[in-house]
Amino acid sequence: MDLILETLGLKKSFQGTAAVDDVNIHMKKGSVYGFVGPNGAGKSTVMKMILNLMEPDSGEVRVFGEKITASGFEIFKRMGSIIENPYFYDTMTAWQNLDLYCEYMGFPDKERIDEVLRLVDLHRAGNKRVRHYSMGMKQRLAIARAILTRPEILILDEPVNALDPEGIREMRNLFRHLNHEEGTSVLISSHILSEVELIADTIGIIRQGRLLAEVSMDEIHKHQTEYISLQVDNTAHAALLLEKMGIRKFSVQDDENIRIYDSEISGKTISEALVKEGVGLESLWRRHDTLEDYFFRLTEGGLS
Ligand code: ADP
Repeated sequence: MDLILETLGLKKSFQGTAAVDDVNIHMKKGSVYGFVGPNGAGKSTVMKMILNLMEPDSGEVRVFGEKITASGFEIFKRMGSIIENPYFYDTMTAWQNLDLYCEYMGFPDKERIDEVLRLVDLHRAGNKRVRHYSMGMKQRLAIARAILTRPEILILDEPVNALDPEGIREMRNLFRHLNHEEGTSVLISSHILSEVELIADTIGIIRQGRLLAEVSMDEIHKHQTEYISLQVDNTAHAALLLEKMGIRKFSVQDDENIRIYDSEISGKTISEALVKEGVGLESLWRRHDTLEDYFFRLTEGGLS
């Protein structure tokens, strides 16, 4: 497996309390890795150690197959990132801030500045001082800076939390575009599973400093069970009829709902049989377990 980024036994404590406890991340080249966990789970701390902004107590980080060291600046030229509240020079314009970043990174292609401002929809505000930017605009500018030098890996810590739903959708499309068209590998954190589910091909779940699961979406889709959800007025009567029809794999959820885990049987057959026997049928749906359901089962305790 071609790993572009991995962490090996990463640990970090603050005042004797473990914030990151033996985290082993395996990120494939060209993938979008969704790093998901509630606030305080340890996501930022892991990402800071990946970017060498914080030293681990033990363990190591490997990027492009090389161990990260304090003096390894060249590696960071190939990475773009957003960590916590991004810092900008307030009295300078967005364009000037990006220009300064190009200088600092030794990146000569100044045309790229206009290009990234356009990509994050800030091209009309490029000459405005950052002081006059809203939170959402600053977040877009941070994304522009992260992708400015065409990095091979993007490390994005909650990159869309100040954006409205439309902005979130636009940025998701941008990350997808960078991944598909430019081959950028993306590590993106969020406390909302559904926010990364749409773009990630691998999900890592972290809680209380521990990586509880690391699974590819392909694997998840294989295990997501399909079922028929029935809402009826009399579950006891309905259950009896289902048994009579030879259906064994079902469960009564409460006094209205039944789930049938038999993918062969058609919804039409069931509804006709129930109605014929006088069971009031409110609704019948074919459903999938959600991703939350899947991880709940996997981690036996929920995600928050
Ligand atoms: P997340 O990014 O998932 O919200 P963090 O990595 O920011 O989580 O925090 C993980 C835990 O470590 C939290 O309990 C947080 O309070 C603690 N923590 C993070 N940074 C520091 C620090 N510099 N000093 C003390 N505690 C910290």
